Amino acid sequence: MKSIYDYSLKDLEKYFLSIGEKKFKAVQIYDWLYKKRVDSFEEMTNLKQELIKHLIEQFSFEHLEILSRLDDVDVYKYLFKLNDGNKIEAVLMHHDYGNSLCVSTQVGCNMSCAFCESGRLKKVRNLIPSEMILPILQIERDLKIRISHIVLMGIGEPFDNYENVMKFLDIVNEPKGIELGSRHITISTCGVVPKILDFMDNDKQVNLAISLHASNDNLRNKLMPINKVYNLQLLLNTIKKYVAKTNRRVTLEYIMLKDVNDSISHARELADLVKGINCYVNLIPYNETSHIEFKKSSKERILKFYDCLKRNNVNVTIRREFGSKVMAACGQLRSNYEEGS
Ligand code: SAH
Repeated sequence: MKSIYDYSLKDLEKYFLSIGEKKFKAVQIYDWLYKKRVDSFEEMTNLKQELIKHLIEQFSFEHLEILSRLDDVDVYKYLFKLNDGNKIEAVLMHHDYGNSLCVSTQVGCNMSCAFCESGRLKKVRNLIPSEMILPILQIERDLKIRISHIVLMGIGEPFDNYENVMKFLDIVNEPKGIELGSRHITISTCGVVPKILDFMDNDKQVNLAISLHASNDNLRNKLMPINKVYNLQLLLNTIKKYVAKTNRRVTLEYIMLKDVNDSISHARELADLVKGINCYVNLIPYNETSHIEFKKSSKERILKFYDCLKRNNVNVTIRREFGSKVMAACGQLRSNYEEGS
């Protein structure tokens, strides 16, 4: 049975028309689900008993089980159990500008980035929209907060699960529902070029971040196998097209890996690469994991890299570090849980 949380408002409107009901029932249901946040169809008191009975037969209302929650300064890391037993992570971060939630898009990931914990567990399946929506509702309830920002930077490659992720964006963005503004949502991809183009044409007004992590093809091939399919030149040309068409600035994420991609010559190479592109570079201190050999660059090294980019007129920021105590690196919690360590 499909979850009621898998439906966009438009889908529900279509559904009600198809069973000979009025379209506005969909708005009423959205109001109960996402504004009043009830837990059952029975609580939807402005619907007729007959319709409630019908909905109970047609849709599931189940929430996800919260398996664990790890707390650290300004960060909460959740492990959820899906209805088929698979597990996913979500990380809530308190910022001075609001609460942001890092959402997973797949169980496991097939992109095999060398530094990333998620890829150690290969993709089992795509998440469906309800499995990305429910963590938002449940964490808001658990912590008694409102989430103001969403980043699709958890486990999985969002552009390897394009249709479900687009539906998720429609649901979360709906003014009659959760009403999270598209400019407060960021989708991050390792660089699946054809989907970046689809996303550009889709015009959802959602921010786009690209995991770059290297300043030349040689290095990027080693770190991110996707680069062998869509190399840097192709990726950057695509980003230029995207910026020209959407008029939106793109974020380029760059993990700082000790002695791998963090020298001044890398910084210069990176500055050349992004010259003329309306973007900003986000330097990410690497979150070390016990399973992978990469080490984080020292603060000093990161600052030197940062200065070099600045001097070369690149817009650049350094990401605040969160939750190294709670294993906030992508995929860490789940893989530790699976291994019982
Ligand atoms: N597949 C998407 C989104 C998931 S990863 C993507 O590649 O963009 C979100 C970001 O976290 C990516 O930039 C990823 O490269 C980065 N990341 C993965 N492991 C990390 C770690 N251990 N420390 C810091 N960032 C990491």
